[in-house]
Amino acid sequence: MDCIFCKIAKKEIPSDSVFDDDLVFAFKDRAPIAPVHILIIPKEHIKSIADLKEEHEALAGRMIMAAKKLAEQAGIAEGGYKLLFRVGRHGGQEVPHIHLHLIGGAKLAEGIKPIR
Ligand code: 5GP
Ligand code: ZN
Repeated sequence: MDCIFCKIAKKEIPSDSVFDDDLVFAFKDRAPIAPVHILIIPKEHIKSIADLKEEHEALAGRMIMAAKKLAEQAGIAEGGYKLLFRVGRHGGQEVPHIHLHLIGGAKLAEGIKPIR
């Protein structure tokens, strides 16, 4: 399958990886929008949050726990951060493999409003 994030998780494409366990992989976003911008992905190819099934509950939890640990590791846990899933067209998702954005290291603007 021609999925860029599957290839990153399998290390077929290089990335700045920061976390790797049996279920989850994480790496630095190539176009960071803040001092810390990390993408946490499942190793299994799942297109979006909209495709999650009951059997993925533990996996989804693991992704959030990885984000929490990475925030601590990056020294941004105390200052705070944002966790973001974009889902589908309205959510602005560009890469069709679930990814949780961990964004922080600076005070962040709100920046979510409908396009009229
Ligand atoms: P989305 O808009 O789908 O929520 O976010 C996709 C994110 O993936 C973007 O922030 C983009 O910069 C990042 N991205 C896309 N392709 C690559 C890549 O090949 N390597 C890395 N490190 N990040 C990528
Ligand atoms: Zn994939």
